[in-house]
Amino acid sequence: MINIKPIFLILLFPLYVTSIQAQVTSKYERKMFFPDLDNYKTLLTDFHQHTVFSDGKVWPSIRVEEAIKDGLDAISLTDHLEYQPHSQDIENPDRNRVYIIASQFAERQNKNLEKKLIVINGQEITRSMPPGHINAIFINDANKLLHENDSLKGIEEANKQNAFVFWNHPAWPAQRSDGIAKLDDFHKYLIKNNLLHGIEVVNELYYSEEALQIALEHNLTIMGTSDIHGLIDWLFKVPDDGEIHDNILPGHRPITLVFSKDKSKEGIKEALFSGRTAVFYNELLIGKEEYINQLVKKSLTIDNIGDLELGYSEDGKSTIKNVRLKNISDAPFLLKNLSEYTFETSSDIINIKPNSTHTLSIKTRGKPFKELNFEVLNAIIGPKKYLKLKMPISK
Ligand code: ZN
Repeated sequence: MINIKPIFLILLFPLYVTSIQAQVTSKYERKMFFPDLDNYKTLLTDFHQHTVFSDGKVWPSIRVEEAIKDGLDAISLTDHLEYQPHSQDIENPDRNRVYIIASQFAERQNKNLEKKLIVINGQEITRSMPPGHINAIFINDANKLLHENDSLKGIEEANKQNAFVFWNHPAWPAQRSDGIAKLDDFHKYLIKNNLLHGIEVVNELYYSEEALQIALEHNLTIMGTSDIHGLIDWLFKVPDDGEIHDNILPGHRPITLVFSKDKSKEGIKEALFSGRTAVFYNELLIGKEEYINQLVKKSLTIDNIGDLELGYSEDGKSTIKNVRLKNISDAPFLLKNLSEYTFETSSDIINIKPNSTHTLSIKTRGKPFKELNFEVLNAIIGPKKYLKLKMPISK
């Protein structure tokens, strides 16, 4: 360091400042955002929620307002068909009522919104295990699903109405004492006869790796929902002060990202039946490799604005390259370096915050520098399986 010429100090200083700043530019807004894929729109949805029309604590309009605050594209309010603890105060003879109230309220709100909220008619068929709790969305008439003494009839009726049917919280400890999701013969029958189309891998505060295994093995659509009964803000600790925060990872409800041909009820339904989903839950993205791969590649890119070669070494032959990564999504990315390169300012584990840029100084040792190679430790594509991400370098 003794012989460093002043010119190099001048060159070094802005670089140092830049790399420090790269660590602290993460921005957060309450409305969640994920980029579209090449051929599909990325729609943010929550298809399992409750209101006072079963055991929820709020009027349906509150669910609409929460969804708008969170930037969602579509919701379904799936009250328990059979479980009506508020019936002394709210008689609820028409189980479609929650949908009617919510969709009419959303229609009025949508007039003033750039991003419209779609409300889908749904209900939760609430049975002991098996089959446990089953959600049916895109139904025409909720009342016809109500069969108190037969667990199969409601599911069959939902299918008659061409509903999308998914299994809720298959690992719920109240119905699975070991907390492990597993198929009973009843579920196998439903799957075999194409009466069950999806499964919650995430429900409320819980993630089930075994449910993910079942989804992948039986080609069920991967779902994540809030199953909210009280307030979204309280349960998921969502900061709601209207501010943009630096450098924090805020709470959010679990959502299902639906990769849809367009933003319409028909589009969403087609995507769900085709299994084009991913789940965003806590700091995790969970889904089939095909869609997680596309989503991560759209979210995290090499931002070529940064200099690739600064050449500040005394002999002018630095082989250290600076690459700026840019994350435009609301998910963080926890990267594990799989390449032979080492980094100047970090270990092999790099945490890229949501909505941030991050400059990596890569020690190439003068070898051909063609791609970065990571395992994305919070992008889950199967039990104990994480997305491998190759990022080609092009000047
Ligand atoms: Zn529920």
